[in-house]
Amino acid sequence: MSSFQYAPKACCSRSAEISDAGFCGECGEPLIRCMAFQECHSVLDSTGKCPVCVRPELSLDAGAASTVREGGKLALPLIIRNGSHVGRPLFVTGLWTKEDDSHWTEIPLDFERLDPEAAANVGIRTGVLDHAGIHRIDVRIAIATRYQWREEAFVLTSSIVFPVESKDPDGPVTNITLTADQIGAGTTIYNPTRIEQDRSRGIETNTRAIPLKTQRADKVETDSGLRGYDDGKVVPRWVSFAWKGFAEEDHPEEGIILDAAGLLYLGRNAVGRAEDGNDARLVVNARDGSVSKLTGSISRQHFSFYTESGRLCLRVDSQFGLRVNGDAYGRTKTVTLHDGDVISPLRTHPDALKIKVTFEAERDNVTRIVLNRTSNA
Ligand SMILES: [Zn+2]
Ligand SMILES: [Zn+2]
Repeated sequence: MSSFQYAPKACCSRSAEISDAGFCGECGEPLIRCMAFQECHSVLDSTGKCPVCVRPELSLDAGAASTVREGGKLALPLIIRNGSHVGRPLFVTGLWTKEDDSHWTEIPLDFERLDPEAAANVGIRTGVLDHAGIHRIDVRIAIATRYQWREEAFVLTSSIVFPVESKDPDGPVTNITLTADQIGAGTTIYNPTRIEQDRSRGIETNTRAIPLKTQRADKVETDSGLRGYDDGKVVPRWVSFAWKGFAEEDHPEEGIILDAAGLLYLGRNAVGRAEDGNDARLVVNARDGSVSKLTGSISRQHFSFYTESGRLCLRVDSQFGLRVNGDAYGRTKTVTLHDGDVISPLRTHPDALKIKVTFEAERDNVTRIVLNRTSNA
């Protein structure tokens, strides 16, 4: 099965809002709603990020600009703003900078939560700028959106290039001449000396904050463990679920989770949209294939699958708990699942019903999750 390319269009958010359908009525694309859809009414973008909940805006406070000369240091007045307009807070969980060819340094933050439309100032100071000419500072920011017990984490990068003037005040002014390579998608030119000159001449255009271009850093997300698994594999929200060993009427068709909250429910109740209905029904079979009375020990909704930050997870909904690879977990506990894990819904009879989880991947992208049920009570 070739990997699915998720590409929502403008019509998809409209469609997601007017009905609880799984597919867009206009373009037919699956509607992959944000976990916080109830609040943001948005579908995820093609990178798996909610464009309404996750709207960090990075800028530099131009009003603080001053001439920077060889041998001096530069203070970068970074502003981080939560641009979400739907009342969703944003969490800034880490900030790192790298100067020229140096290594990454973590900048301690005295806040984590940014309320909607709130901004925080973070002072970044370079080391001594030992030569005139073009310097560069890279910024990495780890952000998260949270809803109920779930979190989606992301890392963005931004590069700032700035000219440093010669030590001699009458020396030549550094001209910014950069190649297209240097001005990448996530690079912004910052020229504090120029801003100060303009300001002293009464030019107002350079006194507003300078927006910084940012870029998603997916490799940093997996390397740092913020998204995906240690081996670099990532389970996207549009991974396909396949069912084996379930009776025909007890499982959905193979496909993406299309539930508005992104949850896939499993339990004793029948499959269906009715209240407490499940996506897949859990039945325990006796050796002769008949329904075992142990089925009565399965809760109406026993557990649910969902994806979180590029990983497959399970949440225990049953008061009786369950086991994963033999380890017991109680109600409301969440478990990150790995390729090859075995779920035993009955804690007291772990071998009576088992679901083995298998990942199928193309390179680092998990495209399909096979849930293989075996029951022998
Ligand atoms: Zn559409
Ligand atoms: Zn959202």
